[in-house]
Amino acid sequence: MKNSRRKAKAVIVGGSIAGVSCAHALIAAGWDVVVLEKTSTPPEGCATGAGLGLDSVSEKLIQPWITQPELLQVLSLPMTIEHEQATDADKKITWTLTRDDNFNYKAMHWADLHRILYHSLSPEVVLWGHLFVSFSISDDKRSVKVQAKVLQTDETIEIVGDLLVSADGCHSAIRKTFLPDHKLRYSGYCAWRGVLDYSDNPQSETVVALKKAYPDLGKTNYFDIGSDGHAILYELINKRINWIWYRNQTEPDFKGNSVTTKVSKDMIEKMLTAAEKVWIPEFVKVMRETKEPFLNAIYDSDPLEQLYWDNVVLIGDAAHPISPHGGRSTNMSILDAAVLGKCLEKWGVEKLSSALQEYQSIRVVVAREQVLFSRRMGRIKQRLPLPDRELFDPVTADQKECEALRLRNIPYFCDVPSILI
Ligand SMILES: Cc1cc2nc3c(=O)[nH]c(=O)nc-3n(C[C@H](O)[C@H](O)[C@H](O)COP(=O)(O)OP(=O)(O)OC[C@H]3O[C@@H](n4cnc5c(N)ncnc54)[C@H](O)[C@@H]3O)c2cc1C
Repeated sequence: MKNSRRKAKAVIVGGSIAGVSCAHALIAAGWDVVVLEKTSTPPEGCATGAGLGLDSVSEKLIQPWITQPELLQVLSLPMTIEHEQATDADKKITWTLTRDDNFNYKAMHWADLHRILYHSLSPEVVLWGHLFVSFSISDDKRSVKVQAKVLQTDETIEIVGDLLVSADGCHSAIRKTFLPDHKLRYSGYCAWRGVLDYSDNPQSETVVALKKAYPDLGKTNYFDIGSDGHAILYELINKRINWIWYRNQTEPDFKGNSVTTKVSKDMIEKMLTAAEKVWIPEFVKVMRETKEPFLNAIYDSDPLEQLYWDNVVLIGDAAHPISPHGGRSTNMSILDAAVLGKCLEKWGVEKLSSALQEYQSIRVVVAREQVLFSRRMGRIKQRLPLPDRELFDPVTADQKECEALRLRNIPYFCDVPSILI
């Protein structure tokens, strides 16, 4: 059946994790794809991004897409334990709230995951330095014409496809054309984050001390609730420590569409001084020795009821901007891509709307529940008010309250939709 169908073409906007994953999934479904990415070159090296947690479902989905599946093992560290703890700022002590010994995530650097996905595509698939500008759907709704600007030459090009995939992130311009009033929602806090690279000093006293204080580092995702926000700590391959500190603050005024900003030395110094009042000295020293910590404002948005319009479909952060507390964003992008690929393979381009309808019906409910869970979990761990409960107090919290913090409580945790089985 598949061979008798004409080869369909998709234009994917955005060449980050959702975009390159989608390219793989659609190629596997027999489609031609082109990816438009505004960044001028592939993000080589580890200057871009920081750590992420890959779940076991994503790992399985990626395996057939990549030319060297063994690289997934080589470039990741198993995180078999989720350890939720609290820190007493005055006594500088920590204590365990709850622990999940069957966590089964992999810790990876964003740039490593992106690299193995991208390098497994033919080089002509991703057009770097191509800024998506606009699109128009044909009257019969059977094709879509996409205009993009080639940033190096300022020339505008047009590409016609059967399907436009919006993988252009949480600020998606494509989503805005359908939902101009749909706004991102500031969480009430920002994340300071960084990666300490100690490869040039493997015996680093700072890291030795850190590992004494957090003894299961290397196989554990530590979540730590302090007097001012909460923190995350885990190790990456090649002697790197990934850390994040979420701090409640008013919404920052970052330029343009950015949720990340470069920070001044003065801002870093103030953050470190504040850290000394919240975290144990071993953790603060890691922060202090990290080159170029950066600041992420945390946003999500109210879940969407619709993920496609005619022959335009949303995936990844464009479809469901989500706060990071369920460990979902990257995993959802990969799952979206895989489900979309299978729906297109099942229905073919002739029945595109059935394919997109099935994709939407599988993903919309899951995305809604996971976005709302992550939002709630963020507020609990940041000790921000919720209408139906008291503020979380790590000193008095009972076992049930502590166990509720575990990531596996997220609805559809590691759920595999039947279309992928
Ligand atoms: C450079 C980078 C580094 C990141 N590092 C981390 C990390 O360390 N840890 C982590 O958990 N998450 C990280 N993320 C976020 C993470 O990739 C996403 O939250 C998640 O994987 C969903 O991915 P996405 O592809 O839907 O969205 P995004 O990753 O936000 O990607 C959207 C892509 O669309 C492109 N784009 C947007 N508008 C246009 C346009 N008009 N024309 C062409 N292209 C456009 C952007 O340049 C971007 O590459 C990073 C994202 C980026 C872009």
